[in-house]
Amino acid sequence: MASETQSISGTLKRRGLMFVLSSPSGAGKTTISRKLLDADSAIRMSVSVTTRPIRPGEVDGKDYHFTDRATFDRKVENGEFLEWAEVFGNCYGTPVAQIAQGLEQGQDFLFDIDWQGTQQLSQRMRDDVVPVFLLPPSVEELRRRLTTRGTDSAEVIAGRMARAQSEISHWDGYDYVIVNDDVETCFAKVREILAAERMRRVRQNGLIGFVRELMKSDA
Ligand code: 5GP
Repeated sequence: MASETQSISGTLKRRGLMFVLSSPSGAGKTTISRKLLDADSAIRMSVSVTTRPIRPGEVDGKDYHFTDRATFDRKVENGEFLEWAEVFGNCYGTPVAQIAQGLEQGQDFLFDIDWQGTQQLSQRMRDDVVPVFLLPPSVEELRRRLTTRGTDSAEVIAGRMARAQSEISHWDGYDYVIVNDDVETCFAKVREILAAERMRRVRQNGLIGFVRELMKSDA
């Protein structure tokens, strides 16, 4: 009966997931994140708190919640972060409030966080985290992407390369690693991972009841 079918499928609520995209700068993470948010209305960006100064074009509350060091430290002490880390001299943290309730309601979140944050999330909420790492296709391409202006000095470029290489060294803390040699191919892979992860048994809260119904011999 139709009404019975509806009541069974109605129990199949899914728990949300935490989709983490990490990469060194120059591997195309920002482009992939934007494309994903545009293409998939079921995933929302987790907006971090940071002590880094706001950059031109950034919007407070959308790109980050910008704050000062004293306020950040107080939030750490009050346990307001799911994870936090110091990255290249600035502090970044994921506010706990928006996430916990969202996951419960089936909301997926996209995280642009570094390897330290990914490690903390994985330790705290392993079943909820889908950690994905993007790699640049080659050293030459990485250098090209990190050379933003013809005026960048050799020293500035060497500094960016060293940072990128130190971030790359944490690739093995991730379940998925994608070499981003073509944006569209990389994006397609990201979407495939997300689609498959949404179907994991652990995320399908109502399965036990649903399967019991299917197994009823008198149905
Ligand atoms: P940017 O200052 O360029 O926006 O970000 C610098 C680095 O900080 C990036 O690698 C980014 O992934 C990382 N990051 C941004 N927000 C967070 C956060 O909430 N937690 C952690 N652990 N890293 C973050």
